Amino acid sequence: MIRIHNLTKKYDTQTVLDAIDLEIPAGQATGIVGPNGSGKTTLIKHILGLVKPDSGDIEVNGIPLNGTWEYRREIGYMPQKAQYPENMTVRELFAFVKKIRDNEAPMENRLTGMFELEPELDKPLRNLSGGTRQKVGASLALMFDPRLLILDEPTAGLDPKASYKFKQLLRSEKDNGKTVLLTTHIMSEIEELADHIIFLVEGHVRYHGRMSDLMELQQEQRLEGAVAKMMEENAA
Ligand code: ADP
Repeated sequence: MIRIHNLTKKYDTQTVLDAIDLEIPAGQATGIVGPNGSGKTTLIKHILGLVKPDSGDIEVNGIPLNGTWEYRREIGYMPQKAQYPENMTVRELFAFVKKIRDNEAPMENRLTGMFELEPELDKPLRNLSGGTRQKVGASLALMFDPRLLILDEPTAGLDPKASYKFKQLLRSEKDNGKTVLLTTHIMSEIEELADHIIFLVEGHVRYHGRMSDLMELQQEQRLEGAVAKMMEENAA
């Protein structure tokens, strides 16, 4: 469970997150949607402890984020565009991360197999295609079997086979009790994966609730239509 209370963040004079209150339930998947610049990445960075709030509190699994780091061991994070040590091979990178975390990676072999990464393991990261880099990022996020998965545009750049398998894996992880928090512009992906939806506009939460309730509220069969209606209402 992630609890966010009265979270405010300003960059210069711009209020990027404005008194956000959220409870993100454990063991379920929540999708964050909203127009570009609405604060989605900034919200995720706060949960990861990468950005300090101007005011407000965040708790992850009961632990307040007052400069503590230990809670991050329970999080697998897949950034939109990962920065890697480009001269390292994939195998070296995986070994390096395991050493830093001083931890076995119980899901490593399963992920390497699923993403067919075996032939890529001895290539330096700088030589990998965009899709393969995404597969490496997804593997790093999941290999330590974390309780909470935070995924920023997880399937962008993946080929259909990899994307399909990855989504299947995320669903089974969720069924096994993992908490998933993801952002994506692909509404069908949120429909496939998420139970709850957070709709952010200009740093405000415009909707937070079950996806099925939102569709009912907006009298839409598809999430894309429901979100488009919310955006129109907001612009009006
Ligand atoms: P989203 O992920 O929804 O596209 P972001 O959280 O990346 O939105 O950004 C929200 C707003 O905050 C944008 O207007 C962006 O320009 C601004 N912003 C984000 N990070 C910084 C930063 N480090 N310094 C100044 N402004 C920032």
